[in-house]
Amino acid sequence: MSATNRTFTMIKPDAVANGHIGAILNHINKAGFRIVAMKLTRLSVAEASEFYGVHSERSFFGELVEYMTSGPIVAAILEKDNAVADFRTVIGATDPAKADEGTIRRLYAQSIAANAVHGSDSDENAAIEGAFFFSGREQF
Ligand code: GDP
Repeated sequence: MSATNRTFTMIKPDAVANGHIGAILNHINKAGFRIVAMKLTRLSVAEASEFYGVHSERSFFGELVEYMTSGPIVAAILEKDNAVADFRTVIGATDPAKADEGTIRRLYAQSIAANAVHGSDSDENAAIEGAFFFSGREQF
């Protein structure tokens, strides 16, 4: 299947710490995504700063890096037709208070900062973000 049918996700530190890994993976599978690659890992400050480099000028960048390095995360590449857009629908708005009922962020997120999951915003970023965490031989 081509890379345009893939997206990249992280289950963020708050959701891992609150015991939501299993529920979120179940939600992802039920929404029709196949797991292509997956690992439990922890970002260093340098890694989180690089991953979120596009936000380096934002007022919340320091908080974002601190939060994303505060505990382990689950990184995964997911596959489905229209993966990027469909996954953004499944996770809901950045702010869980504004996310639709039944979305992962509405169900499991704490706040706009600690918002349970990441989902790539374009095919190009999905490929870059997937390659940030996984070599070709870790992708199935
Ligand atoms: P996303 O694409 O829905 O993840 O949202 P963005 O790309 O706009 O932001 C990236 C991440 O930065 C979000 O998922 C949040 O974890 C975090 N973030 C966004 N807005 C804020 C904010 O106002 N304050 C803080 N502390 N973090 C934020």
